[in-house]
Amino acid sequence: MQYDLLIQGGTLVLPGEGLAAGDIAIADGRIAAILAPGSRVSAERTLDASGLHIFPGIVDPHTHIGLGNGLADWGSETRSAALGGVTTLFTYLMSGESYFPVIAENLAAAQREAVIDYGFHLVPCSEVHLAELERYASEFGVTSFKFFTSFRGDEGAYLGITGADDGYLFRYLRAVARLPGGLACVHPENIEVVWQLRRELQEAGRDDLPAWNESRPDFVEAECVSRTMIYAAQVGCPLYLVHFSSAAALREYRAGKERFPGVPFWGETCPHYLTHTSDPALGPLGKVNPPLRSPADTEALWQAIFSGLIDTIGSDHVPRPRARKTGSIWKASAGFPGLATLLPVMLSEGYHQRGLPLDRIAELCATNPARALGVGRRKGCLHVGWDGDLTLVDLAAERTVDSAQLGSFSDYSLYEGWRLRGWPVATIVRGKVVMEEGAVAAEGGWGTYLPRRGE
Ligand SMILES: [Zn+2]
Repeated sequence: MQYDLLIQGGTLVLPGEGLAAGDIAIADGRIAAILAPGSRVSAERTLDASGLHIFPGIVDPHTHIGLGNGLADWGSETRSAALGGVTTLFTYLMSGESYFPVIAENLAAAQREAVIDYGFHLVPCSEVHLAELERYASEFGVTSFKFFTSFRGDEGAYLGITGADDGYLFRYLRAVARLPGGLACVHPENIEVVWQLRRELQEAGRDDLPAWNESRPDFVEAECVSRTMIYAAQVGCPLYLVHFSSAAALREYRAGKERFPGVPFWGETCPHYLTHTSDPALGPLGKVNPPLRSPADTEALWQAIFSGLIDTIGSDHVPRPRARKTGSIWKASAGFPGLATLLPVMLSEGYHQRGLPLDRIAELCATNPARALGVGRRKGCLHVGWDGDLTLVDLAAERTVDSAQLGSFSDYSLYEGWRLRGWPVATIVRGKVVMEEGAVAAEGGWGTYLPRRGE
C-alpha cells in the first residue's frame, strides 16, 4: 500500500499505555497503520522522527478567538496554535443576541483562514438562547455551552453578554441535560461578593495586581463550584468546570464528585495558574479571571494534575494586544494569549521540572479534552482509523520565549523571556504538515469545522 505520509523512528506517546517505539502511516487524512520500527513501506513523504516524541495532536478546549482582532483572529490565532503544536481548538462565541448569525460569520471566516480544526462553544445568557438551544445542536452540532456566573448585571456587557441569575443558570443546566451529548461549561465565581470586596478595595485607594486578586478570593470560586455541582446533579447535567485556580475550589470539587458519583464532571486548569502567583511586579499584565493566587494554590493544582482530579488543560487564550494590559488594574484587560505556549509549558514545567509522565500530558492536553467535547472517537489518541493529527516534540529543544515568534495578534506573552525546554517541531492536521521547524506550512482554509453529534 502507498501511504501519504510516514513518520519514522519516533517514540509514540500513548495515553494510558506509556511510550512505545513505532512508525505511523497516514492515508486520506487518517492514521492508516501503526507499524513496528524500521517499517519498509512506501509513502509519498517520509518524516524522520528519530529522537522525537509523537504526541496525539494537542486539543485546546478553551480559547477566545475574536477578542483580539475580530474575525481575522481565525488566521493569526490558528497559526499561533499550529506553532504551539495544537491541532484542534474550541472557542467560546459570545453574544446577547441569537447565535445563528454569529455562527455563520465565524464559520465563513474560519473556512477561509483556519489552518487547524475547530469547534464552537456558545454562551447562553438571553431568553433567545434557551429557545434556540436545540437548534444549535441539531443544525450546527454545537453541544457544549458556557455560563459565566461572574457576568451578572452589566459585568459582561463589554463582551455583549447579558447578565443572568441563578434561576437562568438552573434552567440552562436543565436544558443542556436534555441535549444528546450536551455539556455545560461553567465559569464559577460569585460576583456579588466580588462587587462588595471590589468597592472596599477601591475606596481604600488600592490600584495594584494583588488588589484585583483580593477582590476575587478563593472562597468565591469554591462556593460557586459547590453550588453549580448541586444544580447540575439535580438535573443530571454533565458539567465541565473551567479554569480551576485554587486549592479551596479543588476541595469543593473533590467533595462534589464523591457526593454525586453518577454525574459526569470534568475539571480544567490553565498553564498560568500552574506557573504564576499574585506577584505585584506583574502589574496589570497579570490580570485574569479567576485571578492568580498563592504558591500553595499552584502546588495544589499540580497535585490535582498528578492525582487525576484535574482532567484537562485549556489555554484560556485571549489574543488582545499588550497595550490593553496597562493603566489602572480596575480598567486593564483580563486574560492572556496562551495557545502557542500551552504544550511547551507543560513539557518544561510538568515533565522536565516535576516528572509528570508524557502520557499523562497527552491525556490532559489531547485525549481528555477530545472526549469531554464529543470528538473523542476521532481525535486525542494515536489510533488506527482516527484523524491523522500528530504533534512531534523535541524534548531536548530549549528556547527562550519570544512573543514575536508565536504568531498571535497579541504582541506579548506571560512567558516572555522564560527559557522553556521541550518544544513542538512539527504539527500535523489530518495528514498535512501545517507547521515545521517553527514555520507555518499550510494555507488558510485547511482547518475543518467539527460538528458534534451527541457521541
Ligand atoms: Zn475563558
